[in-house]
Amino acid sequence: MTAPLPANPLLEPSARPLPRHVGVIGAGAIGPDIAYYLKTALPALSVTLIDIRQAAIDAALARLREYADKAVTRGKLKPEAAEEVLANLHGSTDYDALATCDWVIEAATENLALKHRIFADTEARIGDDAVLTSNTSSLPAARLFSNLRRPERATVTHFFAPAWRNPVVEVIDWPRADRALIVWLRHFFCATGKLPLITRDVPCFMLDRVFDNWCNEAALLLDGASAAEIDSVAQEFVHAGPFFVLNLAHGNPIIVETNTLQADAEGEHYRPAPILRSVERWVTPAPKQPADVTPEKRACIRERLLGVLLSQSVDILDRGIGEAADLDLGCRVALGFKQGPLELMRELGDAQSSRMLARFAQERPGMPMPQRALGTYQPSASDLLVDAIDSVKIITLRRPEALNALHDQMTDQILGVIRRHEDDPAVTGFVIVGYGTKAFCAGADIGRFPSLLGNASAAAQYARDCSRLLVHLDAMRKPVIAALNGMALGGGFELALRCHARVAQRSAWMQLPEVTLGILPGIGAMVVPYRRWPNAAPVFHAMLARAARLSARSASAIGVVDDLADDFDALIRLAVARVHALAGRLEPMAQGRVVVPPLDVAEARTADGRMLSASIIGLIAAAVRDAAAAPTLAAALEVGYRAFGAAACTAAAREGIAAFLEHREPDFGPTG
Ligand code: NAD
Repeated sequence: MTAPLPANPLLEPSARPLPRHVGVIGAGAIGPDIAYYLKTALPALSVTLIDIRQAAIDAALARLREYADKAVTRGKLKPEAAEEVLANLHGSTDYDALATCDWVIEAATENLALKHRIFADTEARIGDDAVLTSNTSSLPAARLFSNLRRPERATVTHFFAPAWRNPVVEVIDWPRADRALIVWLRHFFCATGKLPLITRDVPCFMLDRVFDNWCNEAALLLDGASAAEIDSVAQEFVHAGPFFVLNLAHGNPIIVETNTLQADAEGEHYRPAPILRSVERWVTPAPKQPADVTPEKRACIRERLLGVLLSQSVDILDRGIGEAADLDLGCRVALGFKQGPLELMRELGDAQSSRMLARFAQERPGMPMPQRALGTYQPSASDLLVDAIDSVKIITLRRPEALNALHDQMTDQILGVIRRHEDDPAVTGFVIVGYGTKAFCAGADIGRFPSLLGNASAAAQYARDCSRLLVHLDAMRKPVIAALNGMALGGGFELALRCHARVAQRSAWMQLPEVTLGILPGIGAMVVPYRRWPNAAPVFHAMLARAARLSARSASAIGVVDDLADDFDALIRLAVARVHALAGRLEPMAQGRVVVPPLDVAEARTADGRMLSASIIGLIAAAVRDAAAAPTLAAALEVGYRAFGAAACTAAAREGIAAFLEHREPDFGPTG
């Protein structure tokens, strides 16, 4: 039996090195975007685009230059970096140019016979160690790779448009693929900023089963409503309606192709709506101008769309096509759903969901129905991955769309995992790390805070409520280590501070940006660092009052970070070793008063010169002083919660939060 894959792809190092030369076959809509992703992730990589049409290659290379130019204009790439992205990027109509590739990604026209020919031509040219993957939207790996000489080096890697920006990639784990291939692909994608989701080898895999059937259902509804009406109703659930997206992606032929495949394999209920063959463009307004829809019509459309969504979701989980948390995350991130279908199901409740599914079963006979109680389809922890190494639970915060920022549900999930295992003698302790390579945790969602502005006691209570995980950590007997693999901001830094030790990659950094929003960090940052590292008070003063950044190296110099690591593997090794070293030796945090020098600020500006609020800095200074003088840790934390409540009643907080929501710089001049 092969070992299961770790939930966090970076936890299993891959012996295979990074690719040096990648071939992308097909320079149509998506192939060049895949090439651009590869070149921006690994600028030194050589990429060769292959197409049978020179015009397609010329257009693709011109498009990639436009992308790079735009990135420079927007300040996202330096001109030298853009040149590096465009260097070693070639096009060719000759498959011989693939000979030195260590990975070939096929993204040519969706047609099985054509793809068979392409793979035969490619395998005849590449070396034995080269990897071969297909970007097919629908064709199972078993059908695509059955004729290969070495099928174990091949699988499907299914990107989503626009592939240079959309992080999701389905990686198909089919029976004949080498386990090492799947490990390498997931590791590679995760390490280069993508979100790989493991999917079973069925027609259309996981996410296109949702998307294609959502679009097909919309097309079937056209006998009773217009495309504009259907899109407008759909916008309750998605950022853009199905017809708007089909127009954007020239998607009608793809839905015909993919739904025909599903119908042939699984039944007539999947047959594509005939109208998809005869219409090229749909008449539908932009998402910001929804059409008027009568309440009766709205209800009918809404029920059918929800029906297909719930039906597909339960089928995906009943057949083990994908994981529940991946389904929700993939629908949000790859397909633009506002909530995942399982989140929607939870919100609708079992009774409503069952009623809708029953109605859908009547209207669309043959469509899949749940095989078990609806409650059992929910993921156990939608925003976390949990692995185990050497009796240590590794908790990965996974909210890639928000740089792993905390929200109430995620906080409860972390607490849930800890509570479930902390009394288990087989578990020595816990490590908390962020998903991917950029962020440990980018803070806490703004959540309910805007509705609490002006209400000191409710805001203070909110801070107390948000502290439930941190207060639990204070009282734990088993160690919890923060493994900082990137930025740790605001609430994320406060979480790391409360862990029993911190290890960090050298590239990690920490910051308390609350003061730039006209608020303050109320769940420990004005208290805990001064009790743990009193000698470094000036550093924490600057972080709190000026939003100064703290690099991992500086954090290590003052003792905030216990060990520094060169890379992710070393980080996890150090974190696990720390858990073992601290097991049975945890020391409670200082309870009594601490001596802290006054927090005096000459000018209300950030370390890099942005204007701040003097009144908020005054509240921070007072809270730091009062918390240091508090006789117990609990009393000191209470000072922080109340200061958070007081900050919520300032004009500065109103301005700061309004500016944040309106994506503008705050003006603290008038607010003081
Ligand atoms: P496309 O029609 O825009 O481009 C296909 C390209 O393949 C064309 O430029 C064509 O000339 C080229 N081609 C055809 N035969 C070839 C051959 N023998 N050798 C080399 N090149 C050849 O298609 P697309 O939308 O870019 O899709 C490509 C693949 O990716 C399909 O399998 C599709 O299902 C899949 N896919 C597309 C998207 C998307 O958003 N476009 C998303 C996910 C997956």
